[in-house]
Amino acid sequence: MKHFDAIIIGTGQAGPPLAARFASAGKTVAIIERSKFGGTCVNTGCTPTKTLVASAYAIHVARRGSEYGFVVDDVRVDIKRVKARKDAASTTSSKGVEEWLRGTTNCTVIQGQARFQSSNTVAVNDEVLQADKIYINVGGRARVPEMPGVNDVPFLTNSSMMDLDVLPAHFIIVGGSYVGLEFAQIYRRLGSEVTIVEMGPRLIGREDEDVSQGVHEILEAEGINIRLNAKCISLEKRDGGVAVGLTCEVGPPEVVGTHVLLAVGRIPNTSDLGLDQAGVASDQRGHITVDDQLQTNVPGIWALGDCNGHGAFTHTSYNDYEIVADNLFNADHRRVSDRIQAYALYIDPPLGRCGMTEAEVRKSGIRALAAKYPMSQVSRASEKGETQGFVKICVDAETKQILGAAILGVGGDEVIHVLLDVMYTKAPYTVVQRAMNIHPTVAEFLPIILAKLEPFA
Ligand SMILES: Cc1cc2nc3c(=O)[nH]c(=O)nc-3n(C[C@H](O)[C@H](O)[C@H](O)COP(=O)(O)OP(=O)(O)OC[C@H]3O[C@@H](n4cnc5c(N)ncnc54)[C@H](O)[C@@H]3O)c2cc1C
Repeated sequence: MKHFDAIIIGTGQAGPPLAARFASAGKTVAIIERSKFGGTCVNTGCTPTKTLVASAYAIHVARRGSEYGFVVDDVRVDIKRVKARKDAASTTSSKGVEEWLRGTTNCTVIQGQARFQSSNTVAVNDEVLQADKIYINVGGRARVPEMPGVNDVPFLTNSSMMDLDVLPAHFIIVGGSYVGLEFAQIYRRLGSEVTIVEMGPRLIGREDEDVSQGVHEILEAEGINIRLNAKCISLEKRDGGVAVGLTCEVGPPEVVGTHVLLAVGRIPNTSDLGLDQAGVASDQRGHITVDDQLQTNVPGIWALGDCNGHGAFTHTSYNDYEIVADNLFNADHRRVSDRIQAYALYIDPPLGRCGMTEAEVRKSGIRALAAKYPMSQVSRASEKGETQGFVKICVDAETKQILGAAILGVGGDEVIHVLLDVMYTKAPYTVVQRAMNIHPTVAEFLPIILAKLEPFA
């Protein structure tokens, strides 16, 4: 049996930096990966989708050439080259992670499926490894719901999408949340007819209603069909394609397309990990139960990233690494509960979000002020010809601290960090009004918007 100071299972966003941290501290570490290095973000998530978003954006702008003073007679999309560009970005990142780990002294890289044998041993291939500290970073995968007909039709997930090298004539996307909406706009801009089928009454149902509505309008303006309240979704093979039954309140009861993507949530990769052998507890959905410093119920075993259910983003997984590493190596007692919710939806224009939604603020009973401002009045947006969306900010009326914000508009994914950083300092929002901002930017409007704060209606 081989002994290590630490074993890490999975090379997602937390595992590799943690392995490097152990190694640089002179500790021996084994890191195990069963598939591609870098995990979801690099291979089937952020990197490939944002590469596709960039291709789709360039094509979209080319089609709008006349608005900017140039003419492109015929914008033709070469889907194979779009895919090749995406593949190159993923491959470079994945190889980079692998080479980094393999080149790290004290770090042993093992390819294979890891499975607990006990609370301090892990089996992989024909070996059994032992360590006092074990870190689980196994991520998740697309959920395939038990909907009628799902086993009778070909369907795509975010993973199999990566191999698609044809342009669907009519692409049906089941699920109107972050993953589904990004693919919807990408493929619409690449040239597909696109229909989004969402069970709920609105897109991205966790956001405020005006945010959902703003996103809905942006997508609909590009010709994307949106079918809401699709309460009984079923799938059936039909003439070389797939019929998706909807029983919507409004519109035809089914829609027939050439390809179907299921984008209805994610499940953790924990069922084949032998958690029971180690005595590690998980919840009903399979997420590993952890405390505020990411330790499981078994001393010496931690769970980081999507598999612990405390985040579903690359930055939450990386932040998990920082929390674990700072607790272990720097005696800095960081906690999950210290972090402020933040994420972006990468449609164009993007949605940047931080902190509470307006609905959450209202529900909390905090005496609050809010301001909302259309992007059409932001000069930088007008100059760019990208005026869709709005900015909304909520602050605590007493402490003057920012409670949350949504920036749906050009640069929203970047500008949101101005507010997020101020939130981390716990400073009053008035500090934003003291800065001399660069002109012309979207950020320079934040002080102007904050000057319009009013009590909730
Ligand atoms: C389409 C899509 C787009 C996304 N876009 C964004 C975005 O723009 N921004 C963002 O912040 N997030 C985005 N996400 C979410 C983000 O990709 C994930 O939150 C993030 O990758 C989670 O990282 P992780 O460290 O938890 O694990 P993962 O990256 O999922 O890695 C887990 C690794 O563990 C390995 N593994 C699993 N089980 C075992 C085992 N038993 N033995 C050995 N190895 C194992 C897996 O093969 C995998 O490599 C997106 C997700 C999707 C699906």
